[in-house]
Amino acid sequence: MADKTQLVVVGAGPGGYAAAFHAADRGLEVTLVDPEANPGGVCLYRGCIPSKALLHAAKVIHEARAAADFGVRFGDPAIDVGRLRAWKDGVVGKLTGGLGQLTRQRKVRYVRGRARLLDRSTLAIEGGADGTMQLAFDHAILATGSRPVALPGFPQSPRVLDATSALDVENVPGRLLVVGGGYIGLELGSVYAALGSRVIVVEMLPGLLPGVDRDLVRPLAKRLEAECESIRLETRVATVEERGAGLAVRFDGAAEPEVFDSVLVAVGRKPDSEGIGLEATRVRIDERGFVAVDAQLRTAEPSISAIGDLVGQPMLAHKASHEGRTAVEAIAGHKVAFEPAAIPAVVFTDPEIAWCGLTEDEAKSQGRAVEVARFPWAASGRALTLGRDDGLTKLVLDPETERVLGVGIVGPGAGELIAEGVLAVEMGATARDLALTIHPHPTLSETVMEAAEVFFGHSTHLFRPKRR
Ligand code: NAD
Repeated sequence: MADKTQLVVVGAGPGGYAAAFHAADRGLEVTLVDPEANPGGVCLYRGCIPSKALLHAAKVIHEARAAADFGVRFGDPAIDVGRLRAWKDGVVGKLTGGLGQLTRQRKVRYVRGRARLLDRSTLAIEGGADGTMQLAFDHAILATGSRPVALPGFPQSPRVLDATSALDVENVPGRLLVVGGGYIGLELGSVYAALGSRVIVVEMLPGLLPGVDRDLVRPLAKRLEAECESIRLETRVATVEERGAGLAVRFDGAAEPEVFDSVLVAVGRKPDSEGIGLEATRVRIDERGFVAVDAQLRTAEPSISAIGDLVGQPMLAHKASHEGRTAVEAIAGHKVAFEPAAIPAVVFTDPEIAWCGLTEDEAKSQGRAVEVARFPWAASGRALTLGRDDGLTKLVLDPETERVLGVGIVGPGAGELIAEGVLAVEMGATARDLALTIHPHPTLSETVMEAAEVFFGHSTHLFRPKRR
């Protein structure tokens, strides 16, 4: 095996493999390093993909139940956890296997193991089948990702789950405490509630999904309140102890502990910047452990770039992939910068919440004058045929230029619908562009067009004349 490479990419998640593939397509000689047998990273092995497979099962359970409203009755679901797990693992296997094939087709050298930088142009790869090897490189892209934050004082116990172990669905706990009302807590809490657990979500802040506009969160919060045993805001865990066949949890301010079968901790993720040899280089990290990079994703060490969760928020796969491709273009000497106008975010609960660009809350905190046009799904024919009138589509607009600055959607399929919003923001589209674009009827996509019509006071299905 050659011990020199033009570009080494460390970490084969959606950031790393997108970078490696793009570099190979551009004619670079590439080595991709990761401990797993195939590329995929957290997203494919322990994140986005397995959680979405489980959320799909949860959605089918809910829809089967809701069908009784229109006269189609199914019995109670009989859940075979082993089969569900095998199906989910099968999806992961297919996708990661496919990435392995794409790696070989592109002639990217894939080395299994953990890489550690020895200096600005050499790294050691440990733990692979070939023992330790050294690799010299012209360029490196670090894409080691992030890991769940653990809370101090929680016992080491199979009953204490994190985002990774919860995806294994070893069993369906009777009573499950979810600590953290963010993306992971709500997505995986929803899965377990659908499978039959009594779920209690505790969030330390005054609302679920901090940072998301409240009107988008409301329909989800209402549904979760019905599906969960309780949602407790401004609540923190004081102590957790193993007690018999459960965990005794005492909340701040409560005299007596409550007993749970399992506790899922989902209080955020932190960058994996430790143990990769950064101290042997000039690469700098900030106080939260994020690697500092410029708009070309270059670190303070000219031969080393970094992308994805490792370099900062939002910790989203699609942001990492885009950064990966930008980093490669910069290494190839092209004039590029990572400066998106909109990075979409999607919470894959039911309903889904999706947003991009400027949010209403951000506009408020920046003191920026915006106009918000809302189209409630109760006025959408398609939403009603789905039995889902609780959705909302909103546009955050510049009142002067009428430009679309941000889009927010809550409702089933919001994650798919938001793509139009991202394009609108990126292209500098105006409300008129959206209103004059013919959208197919009857679809939920019409709510984007109608929200733009609301801005002008002439939405067909909502009588809301403009006052000015
Ligand atoms: P998060 O930041 O989304 O949510 C963590 C929540 O825990 C916050 O609401 C926070 O206020 C709360 N919290 C923190 N400490 C707490 C405590 N001691 N007690 C109670 N609540 C506490 O983090 P996450 O859900 O762990 O997800 C991590 C990241 O992974 C996300 O920010 C996101 O970038 C990514 N992710 C994305 C998706 C998606 O795109 N659909 C899904 C899962 C994860």
